[in-house]
Amino acid sequence: MVRVLIMLGAPGAGKGTQAVRLSASLSIQHVSTGDLFREHLKNGTELGSKVQHYMEKGHLVPDELVVDMLFDRVAAEDCRDGYLLDGYPRTLHQAKVLDERLMPATSLQVIELEVSDESIIERAAGRLTCDNCGHLQHQKFSPPAVAGTCDACGGPLSQREDDRPEVVGNRLAVYHDQTRPLSDYYRERGMLCTVDGGKDPKVVYKACLECLGEED
Ligand code: AMP
Repeated sequence: MVRVLIMLGAPGAGKGTQAVRLSASLSIQHVSTGDLFREHLKNGTELGSKVQHYMEKGHLVPDELVVDMLFDRVAAEDCRDGYLLDGYPRTLHQAKVLDERLMPATSLQVIELEVSDESIIERAAGRLTCDNCGHLQHQKFSPPAVAGTCDACGGPLSQREDDRPEVVGNRLAVYHDQTRPLSDYYRERGMLCTVDGGKDPKVVYKACLECLGEED
């Protein structure tokens, strides 16, 4: 049985942080569409140049560009036993394409991290991302031991362009408009488990495991 997990939640709700931990403890591949796009931007690919404008503005990349990239990635050998999707699906169309393309013997589970808009804005304002390894830290909640330096690899930490306050507002609006309806979509199918993402990351992690019927 192939295991596919989806993390839903607003930008900055903690999907990335939880996805890293959960994928490691469940031994499934972590697949983040945002990271894949940032990789394309860094490498100056054709896809990168097509998506840059959308990402900088905090808009969604058009479905057709996301879908092909995602399904190429999950067709790889390291996703054969399962994968955790972080940042996909973000539209109803993307969710429907996923349903169509999943192997019949797949167990699909969806975790939604619920966090208030006020907390999202506060989190994004202080979020620091390592330019080298993608590790996430926060000025207030997980400050680096050495200012400006990643605790994981020693690389330089910076604020993501799209975590600037003027872009975060856009990303939140897009989330409420286009992605939030997915909660109902999965709830109606009996696949959704909602976790209070406002708590300490360790508590959130435990709640996610509980949702999945896993032991710590
Ligand atoms: P993230 O790191 O998940 O917040 O993604 C960063 C940006 O990449 C988003 O604001 C979108 O512009 C784009 N993006 C990532 N995943 C998707 C997706 N599934 N659909 C559309 N755009 C996406």
